Amino acid sequence: MTENIIEAVNISKTYGKKTVIKPLNLSVRKGEILAVIGPSGAGKSTLIRMLDGIEPMSSGDLFIFGQKLCKSSRYSLRGRMGVLFQKTVLFDRSVEENISLGLSYRHLPSAEIKSRTKDILERMGMSEYAKRSAKTLSGGEGQRVAFARVLVTRPEILFLDEPTANLDPIATAVLEEMILKENRENKTTIIINTHDQAQGQRLADRIAVMIDGEFKQIDSAEDVIYHPKTEDAARFVGFQNIFSLFVVNNSVNIGGYEIPLPSEFTCAEKVLMMIRAEDIILSKESGKLRGTVVSSVRRGAFIEAGVEVNGVMFRVSVKFRDAGNEFNAGDAVYLNWKDDAVHFIPSC
Ligand code: ADP
Repeated sequence: MTENIIEAVNISKTYGKKTVIKPLNLSVRKGEILAVIGPSGAGKSTLIRMLDGIEPMSSGDLFIFGQKLCKSSRYSLRGRMGVLFQKTVLFDRSVEENISLGLSYRHLPSAEIKSRTKDILERMGMSEYAKRSAKTLSGGEGQRVAFARVLVTRPEILFLDEPTANLDPIATAVLEEMILKENRENKTTIIINTHDQAQGQRLADRIAVMIDGEFKQIDSAEDVIYHPKTEDAARFVGFQNIFSLFVVNNSVNIGGYEIPLPSEFTCAEKVLMMIRAEDIILSKESGKLRGTVVSSVRRGAFIEAGVEVNGVMFRVSVKFRDAGNEFNAGDAVYLNWKDDAVHFIPSC
């Protein structure tokens, strides 16, 4: 039987008249990595602070390790959890002193503090940093030390609040590997906030999409990225082509191309049809729809094109290596996609 290590029931947060987290439920299994993704201001940090017991909830109940979070249990429950923020203050002391600080607050014997600090530095491949002054570290190294300072307390639940937001891609990859290692080796339950959906996809077993203080979807990474359940979730995960279409004879018509609907939509009047820009294939020879390139901009390894088909504008992203300079404004092109690249949701 799977054990829910976190169970939130109708928890919400209001600051003055502003509701930042609408009443929501959340269950997290032991050993799971859950990524909470969403735009800035969606309420992700507030949620983590409530789950960690730093921020009082405005309503609802929270059960951690099966125990209700309340005044009397808060201190002992928080002792079993750890939190790493985007920016962590390191003290102007050595790396090992910074790490052991978290343990001295817990009044552990000094021999144990020493051995745990040594172990964590070894486990993170940072032993040679032990005597370095924390002030001399790069951003990535500093965040690894901050992570070590949390891990040394052996948290059973780890909250990571945008832990790599200030790091470059290489330092991000190093920290991500450490996060996965901690989860694999110690079965630590991890909840990570990130505005970077790709990071959520790399790390998490499940992804929760939070927008405007609500969970729009909690699913596998695959489903969140390819089968979003709401329009705003779809836009957040990068769907650039979203069309509201009338249903006629169990089908929709987009730019002259007819697509039969999955059976669950046959009673609907309208649906949203969506397709990712990178799932559209451009061709000069043949395809489902014929249109005209109206814009073509190179973005790094990709070309982003706008293609107009009978008054409908499609956004298309193709690899520059594949397309070269083949698709320019004014060119006639065909659009193609695999049938399973099209996703439908009800239109409200
Ligand atoms: P995210 O982490 O998704 O960027 P936050 O949880 O930080 O979002 O913030 C959600 C909303 O709550 C924002 O509009 C923010 O301004 C507001 N907020 C956060 N903390 C406070 C506070 N202490 N007082 C008033 N409003 C707050």
